[in-house]
Amino acid sequence: SFDKETIIVVLGASGDLAKKKTYPALFNLYRLNLLPKALAIIGYARTKMDKDTFHGKIGEFLKGVDSDEDKKKKGDFLNICTYTAGAYDKDEAFQQLNKDMEERESKFENGASRLFYMALPPNVFTVVAEGLKKNCYSKNGHNRIIIEKPFGKDLESSREMMGKLKELWKEEETFRIDHYLGKEMVKNLLVTRFANPIIDAVLNKDLVSNVQITFKEPFGTEGRGGYFDEFGIVRDIQQNHLSQVLSLVAMEKPKSFSAEHIRDAKVEVLKSVPPIKDADVLLGQYTAAKGKPGYKDDDTVPKDSNCPTFAALTLWVNNKRWEGVPFIMKAGKALNEGKVEIRVQFKDEKNKLFENAQRNELVWRVQPQEAIYEKICTKVPGLQMGTIPTDLDLTYKDRFSDFRLPEAYEALILDALNGDHSNFVRDDELDVSWKIFTPILHAIDEGKLKPESYEYGSRGPSGLDAFIEKYGFKRADDGYDWPKTNVA
Ligand code: NAP
Ligand code: NAP
Repeated sequence: SFDKETIIVVLGASGDLAKKKTYPALFNLYRLNLLPKALAIIGYARTKMDKDTFHGKIGEFLKGVDSDEDKKKKGDFLNICTYTAGAYDKDEAFQQLNKDMEERESKFENGASRLFYMALPPNVFTVVAEGLKKNCYSKNGHNRIIIEKPFGKDLESSREMMGKLKELWKEEETFRIDHYLGKEMVKNLLVTRFANPIIDAVLNKDLVSNVQITFKEPFGTEGRGGYFDEFGIVRDIQQNHLSQVLSLVAMEKPKSFSAEHIRDAKVEVLKSVPPIKDADVLLGQYTAAKGKPGYKDDDTVPKDSNCPTFAALTLWVNNKRWEGVPFIMKAGKALNEGKVEIRVQFKDEKNKLFENAQRNELVWRVQPQEAIYEKICTKVPGLQMGTIPTDLDLTYKDRFSDFRLPEAYEALILDALNGDHSNFVRDDELDVSWKIFTPILHAIDEGKLKPESYEYGSRGPSGLDAFIEKYGFKRADDGYDWPKTNVA
């Protein structure tokens, strides 16, 4: 339920996530009149800052403010954004924050609900969650807490951290963000699958040869290598974001569109995925090329780092629908392009009538340029008989040019304000995902699995194409020439 009177507290408001994502998302929601009318937004962190400095810091990232009306909105928005400096581990500091909130609430009619957004590094999650519960828990409204990855480093540390948080905050009060669940095309997976029998009916082992879920970034760790080195690409991208995508692609139809039924179905499918085997892993680490530095050229990265900046991992969904179909998750930094997509490749047509017919593919392009396209064969137009590959193309910018696609964080903050958990990670979902990834993560940490090198700006390690082909992927004979098609 949407609360009319709300206080949002951004913990870690002096940091990177707060200024780049949290405040811009709050501003856009404010601008669209989607936030409660009675509202206060309090920034909280240890750094001492006056109001103007704070407003300057967050104001810089509030984009698209051109018209006089927008400028006024920006001014109004900043007016409700205050900043309080305080410690993360002192009751008195949180008691002061509580006083601040009570003072704001005294101007509201019925007290207010409180939403705590933790834009903080994980080493302080627990102590802050504790301080808030003890000192800042509202007695006359909802209390909700948003946290964001990393949720531990493996199954054990995740259980430990989640266990501590659970002692303080109930599951229905906790909103674990995986921002991929706020992306338009990821949200569309449920709709395109379950509102369209012609799509969902073909997603099964009889017709599908292989599925690739791909994340590619065209830049490296650029100065943040030391931070990245602790995690690596598998923890950064696959265990959370791509694992969420996989569950949405592979899950059975939920009993209803309710948050719990959706999450039940996601957990159920992940339970059919055994831990990834060493043989199903290909790792990479980028090296200097074309004037760009290699991963280990960063001074903050240990010279003997075994950290993968690229990984291709094959997962198997052992259930009736998917038995034997490889789900290949690829993720990498410093590659030839930036994109996120899901590519379902279908098996060859049985008893081929048309020699040149190429495989069908169904692609959800998550970013950039949201699109869904289906690669199909068609008759060469004209007097000759023959097949050429082409596509049924739903490119959002062409088809839905009048719609604005929100940032993932906007969608998620709005959901949290509404108490809707559909697009947040449930505790058991996290647990079952860590079970799949923990053995290979430990093998990497112990140096048993090693990355191959690949050049900055390439498609990945040289063994990549052979790795993908091993699982049945066939690339169109001569590539796929789109949209140019030579027709006589
Ligand atoms: P950050 O800038 O490093 O930290 C946020 C604030 O926390 C800092 O301004 C600092 O505030 C305080 N802080 C930093 N290190 C601390 C420490 N060791 N002990 C206590 N307080 C400390 O982090 P962030 O990039 O905003 O990320 C916040 C969380 O979101 C992290 O869990 C991160 O993994 C996650 N995340 C970030 C992004 C992103 O785009 N940045 C994206 C996805 C997820 P004071 O010193 O003023 O207290
Ligand atoms: P494609 O380039 O024909 O195929 C992409 C697949 O082939 C990816 O799995 C890619 O791997 C792999 N690949 C790319 N280069 C390779 C190489 N040199 N050797 C081996 N494998 C390679 O792209 P497509 O998605 O099927 O579509 C063809 C073109 O049509 C693209 O330019 C696409 O953007 C365009 N198209 C766009 C839309 C749209 O956006 N609305 C609609 C239809 C078609 P990685 O994943 O590792 O890169």
